[in-house]
Amino acid sequence: MRDKRTELGRDLTKYKGVVVGLQLSLAKTTVKEFKADISAALEINRARIKWIEWQMGFRVAIFLCVCLVGCDPHTEPPTPPMGTSAGVETTKTLAANISAFCPGKCCCQHWANMTTANNHKIKYGDRLVAAPRNYPFGTWMTIEGYGRVQVKDRGGAISGSKLDVLFYEKSQDPTKTDIEWSHQLAKNWGRKFTEVIVELPE
Ligand SMILES: [Zn+2]
Repeated sequence: MRDKRTELGRDLTKYKGVVVGLQLSLAKTTVKEFKADISAALEINRARIKWIEWQMGFRVAIFLCVCLVGCDPHTEPPTPPMGTSAGVETTKTLAANISAFCPGKCCCQHWANMTTANNHKIKYGDRLVAAPRNYPFGTWMTIEGYGRVQVKDRGGAISGSKLDVLFYEKSQDPTKTDIEWSHQLAKNWGRKFTEVIVELPE
């Protein structure tokens, strides 16, 4: 029985050499034409093209030599800068405008219920930051003069690079309530323009 596929395969093999030859000659023509085009476009002759080719080759050789000489196999791998591990950014620096608040009505108006937007119950000595919505709750921030704290609150006035840090301490002044004392601490903080290190979620 005649197998048409085998016959066809044999025929194709027979023509394969011709096809490859044709492709090669086409490529050759293209390169030739390309060179001719370039020389026409730049109005330069064949000798000039050879000179350019030689120069390019020479430059590549020099570059390779510099690479070979410049590479010291005993060089320690560069230590990634702070905030990166294995080349992946893990922190970012934010130029922030930081104000402070106490949990009283003086600072939180009708939201003064001793609970943050994150449902965190405020306790004495708590340190936390209210940040814009683009910083998810739980994001760690290192704020100079305050500490490494988590985002646990939001606020209507808080947008862009504006942050708000909480102060809530037991009063150390018998004439002041805890809120009055904490409000004073917040006032003492005032407003700071400082860089904050934000730890990016993994
Ligand atoms: Zn206050």
